[in-house]
Amino acid sequence: MIAIGIDIGGTKIAVGLVDEQGNVLAQQSLKTDPAKTPAELIAETAAAVNGLLDRQNVSPADVKGIGVGAPGPLDARNGRLDSPPNLPSWHGFGVVEELRKHFGAWPVHFQNDATAAALAEKWLGAAQEADSFVFITVSTGIGAGIYMHGRLITGASGNAGDVGFIMVEPGAAGTEGYWEQIASGTAIARQASELLGRSVGTKEAFDLAAGGDARMKTLIDVTYRRLGMGCVSLINTLDPEMLVIGGGVSQIGDPLFEAIRSYVSEHALSPAGRRTAIVPAALSQNAGLIGAASLVHQAY
Ligand code: ADP
Repeated sequence: MIAIGIDIGGTKIAVGLVDEQGNVLAQQSLKTDPAKTPAELIAETAAAVNGLLDRQNVSPADVKGIGVGAPGPLDARNGRLDSPPNLPSWHGFGVVEELRKHFGAWPVHFQNDATAAALAEKWLGAAQEADSFVFITVSTGIGAGIYMHGRLITGASGNAGDVGFIMVEPGAAGTEGYWEQIASGTAIARQASELLGRSVGTKEAFDLAAGGDARMKTLIDVTYRRLGMGCVSLINTLDPEMLVIGGGVSQIGDPLFEAIRSYVSEHALSPAGRRTAIVPAALSQNAGLIGAASLVHQAY
């Protein structure tokens, strides 16, 4: 059976056909053009899905369902986006109802994209053996998906895991101190630019720090500590076996993981918490698409 995966993002909508082993058989990407209405973009998405089904000779009987991953805040129960900052024209838009106009026959699963990515890490990625873990994405913002006691935790409205808004360090970097305000890729670039008095990208800030720039080294060390602080809060709250960390910023790799492990090993409350495994996400390519499809193929 085939799952149709749809990953709605601020810059693009990825659509794909994913089989029961997690292979992406065909995919296409559409620009989330702000000049088009959400209904127009869903119509384009539906046309793209039909094109892929035709190209792969998939009959309707072989389609198990549609999985949609979308940025929060959302209303999963009613199939609506609520107020995702990067998709202003989609606020309150009923994605599931609109998709049903095009694809009445198939069940539609709709969840927060980081929650879907957690399910994909359980299915095919770094958390296959874990019964309780948290997937964290450190990217433009910071988000998470929570998987506990063998089940995905979606919350009452689908917004469980929106950890970018846990309070980490009030007043830090001149902000209220929400985690993503002070430790996301966007936050790193903003602070680096302020410190150097010119526009500095996230990766460039890391490169300058590695090259010996003292101000950037201090910023990166502080960022690692702030990433560690948020991880400790999640560990103390949820007692997971494992944290799986993905997102663009995690591509820095070992130095980031070592710094977070070190902070957690000193600051988590319980001995078990201090030993929590902290590992890179295994799915980077097509993670959004496979996450969306996992909502169809995996029980949660
Ligand atoms: P999105 O937030 O759209 O899902 P990503 O997960 O790629 O996208 O995250 C984008 C953020 O990650 C940006 O702040 C970007 O600068 C940063 N980033 C991307 N690649 C790297 C890298 N190799 N090293 C450090 N930061 C990176």
